[in-house]
Amino acid sequence: MKVHSTISPDLDQMKDWRRQIHQHPELGFEEFATSRLVAELLKSWGYDVHTNIAVTGVVAVLKWGNKPGLRLGLRADMDALPIQEATGLPWASQISGKMHACGHDGHTAILLGVAEAISRLHRTQQLPGNGTLNLIFQPAEEMGFRGGAERMIEEGLFERFPCDALFALHNFPGIPVGKLCFREGAFMASSDTAKLTFTGKGGHAALPHLAQDPTLPASATLLALQSIIGRNVDPNQTALISVGRMQAGTSANVIPNTAELELSIRTLAPEVRDTLEHRIRTLAQSQASAFDCQCDIVYSRGYPVLKNDPEMTHLAINTAQEVFGVDQVDASIPPLTGSEDCAYFLEQVPGCYFLVGNGDNGHDAGTRVGPCSVHNPHYDFNDACMEAASTFLVSLLSRYFNPNEEPEA
Ligand SMILES: [Zn+2]
Ligand SMILES: [Zn+2]
Repeated sequence: MKVHSTISPDLDQMKDWRRQIHQHPELGFEEFATSRLVAELLKSWGYDVHTNIAVTGVVAVLKWGNKPGLRLGLRADMDALPIQEATGLPWASQISGKMHACGHDGHTAILLGVAEAISRLHRTQQLPGNGTLNLIFQPAEEMGFRGGAERMIEEGLFERFPCDALFALHNFPGIPVGKLCFREGAFMASSDTAKLTFTGKGGHAALPHLAQDPTLPASATLLALQSIIGRNVDPNQTALISVGRMQAGTSANVIPNTAELELSIRTLAPEVRDTLEHRIRTLAQSQASAFDCQCDIVYSRGYPVLKNDPEMTHLAINTAQEVFGVDQVDASIPPLTGSEDCAYFLEQVPGCYFLVGNGDNGHDAGTRVGPCSVHNPHYDFNDACMEAASTFLVSLLSRYFNPNEEPEA
């Protein structure tokens, strides 16, 4: 049986849902209306729907066959960003200061389209063998720290809805529309932050010998941080420390009491992540004591390294190449230094997180100011990538539950 030749997701419906969600963006853990829309649609198609997981998360379950079979998870994120939309599009955000600037409106609509198509297969008894499909709509991907995925897992997601494999996607501007991009192994970076507060003793700028100036250890640390990348990390590994904020003092004639640095720290390997934390702590403390100051460190671990399972990644690549041809597929895209909440799911379940091309944002009546990345006020999810993304996921489901199926000619 060739599922992808017998069923097509409804593109017009997906576009309508996408634009409806786009007009009503909701921030992390506040996706009440989006979650309600998702749950109502899934119920209407016969799914067993579970709501309020991690506040607004939804899981929809479909079982078929009379024996237990494999259990597949497909995941979409639902949250928007605190950005004032500047696209001027007819379906632009109606909520001031909130915007779907990362395309999670599109991801949600794609998974709804897949859900509806698979419910048709279910009704017509065309689903292969025995199996369970768990559709996971997660809240709060954009938090960076303690997001929706971690919280869904803490609330028993995989105990309640066990999955043997899990797949998820993200749109990516700048990649041709609908092109599918994969990478086995570490694909997206861990993302941690550190706040370093150097405390000395403030005083008059004219009397430095009576003060302990905290700007000196802060400055020395700022420069020395890059030596961690150059001297402590294997040159073949990815590691990144950016100082996003440095702050001290209020006036030219005052030596401040404190000086602060805030860092963003990213890697593609857990052992490098540990090295960076250890070295940042040691360096900052040593610099503080070298200048007779103290250093207080608040080190926060955010999303972990996202790792794609080799077997599941190969299944996804083979399916994509069979359905769309090799030119529409990049089987080994370079890793990204961005981070993703889905990493928590992929720590628990083997699977693959992949990208679908969003094009150059020059689509739709040419109203755009040119290519722009996600998280930009001019960004818009490209509805034209939904056909490839949804068709691919339906085909992937077919191949996952029916691995001996002959590829479509
Ligand atoms: Zn984002
Ligand atoms: Zn995103």
